[in-house]
Amino acid sequence: MKSISRDSINLGFSFVLLFGITFVAGFYYWILFIFSGIFLLSYIILDKKKLRCPECGGYENLDRLMYAKNHVYHCKQCGERLIIRITLNELKGGD
Ligand SMILES: [Zn+2]
Repeated sequence: MKSISRDSINLGFSFVLLFGITFVAGFYYWILFIFSGIFLLSYIILDKKKLRCPECGGYENLDRLMYAKNHVYHCKQCGERLIIRITLNELKGGD
């Protein structure tokens, strides 16, 4: 069954959060801008690989994916229901 993993969504959310924190803190310690860039890049890569509609590859923003974790949600592009699965091995590369 095609689905998006819950861990990927949580990881994406963490990257965005860390990006926000390091970006703001970067105004005080410029070195943190570098980390900020790394987190943003990580999020973009994760988004491209894991956070797309499994049916049509359409982009969904993080807000909608967070919503889809607990509600029935349909892809805006193709209308298929987005299924969010729970995997504990996502970070180990299991699929
Ligand atoms: Zn779709």
